[in-house]
Amino acid sequence: MTATGRLAGRIALVTGAGSGIGLGIGRRFAAEGATVLFTDIDGDKARIAAAEAGSHAATLDVTSEASWTEAAALVERTLGGLHILVNNAGICVPGSVEDTDFSAWRRSHAINLDGVFLGCHSLLPLMAKTTEATDLGGAILNISSVSAMVASANFASYNSSKAAVRHLTKSIALHCAKQRYAVRCNSIHPTFIDTPLIDTLAKGADHQAMIEKLARQVPIGRVGDTDDVAWAAVYLCSDEAKFVTGAELLIDGGLAAK
Ligand code: NAD
Repeated sequence: MTATGRLAGRIALVTGAGSGIGLGIGRRFAAEGATVLFTDIDGDKARIAAAEAGSHAATLDVTSEASWTEAAALVERTLGGLHILVNNAGICVPGSVEDTDFSAWRRSHAINLDGVFLGCHSLLPLMAKTTEATDLGGAILNISSVSAMVASANFASYNSSKAAVRHLTKSIALHCAKQRYAVRCNSIHPTFIDTPLIDTLAKGADHQAMIEKLARQVPIGRVGDTDDVAWAAVYLCSDEAKFVTGAELLIDGGLAAK
């Protein structure tokens, strides 16, 4: 599909953009005319991604408030503001409530949930200021999971952290609306997407074999690719979705419809 400038004039920050879904979103946003700051805890991966897309990069650990404060100063100083924030960085630590130890529980929530809170808390003031000054709408997009709606015995910390992101998204959306900020906030809920994260589920099994096994659980008969998520992100962060806030979009090949 060809790019049509749907995000022209926007400045966007994507977390966890060195790999998988974040990388796919960053690439699509850049192709649609946005200035993108690719960020990742692995700064080298972010720099490679940004160089390929002709955009910008920074090291950002979403669990660190100081890291977010630095990122906010960087985007204001070097890019002139921020319209779009995609809270994408996340991990999946499999385990039931009995075999998840407390440190794994806390790590899941630190990245998957605290990271989203810190991103919104740190950057919303700048986003409100930028959208007002440029008269261009802004958006926060939180990458949750179908796991927020459909629980599994073996994903206690993932289910919990992703469900919390789903509800936090609605609270942020209502806050922005109440303040009359031109910033919307929505969540995306993918099922299995073919990224390196899948290998954390595979317990050493071959990646392709795991993809084929997971595909059998999806009504459409395949797992997703990163563009399946990235096109939805373009829509939700563009003016095409200007009346959409507090919404949750399943991208799951029909999984949750069962
Ligand atoms: P991925 O492992 O390919 O990429 C995750 C990226 O996040 C990596 O580049 C990693 O370096 C970065 N990261 C990890 N900890 C970080 C931290 N503390 N600060 C900043 N960056 C950090 O995974 P993915 O599949 O692209 O997952 C992206 C998001 O999509 C996650 O939130 C995940 O839960 C969600 N998701 C993935 C799937 C799937 O099947 N792949 C399904 C549903 C939801």
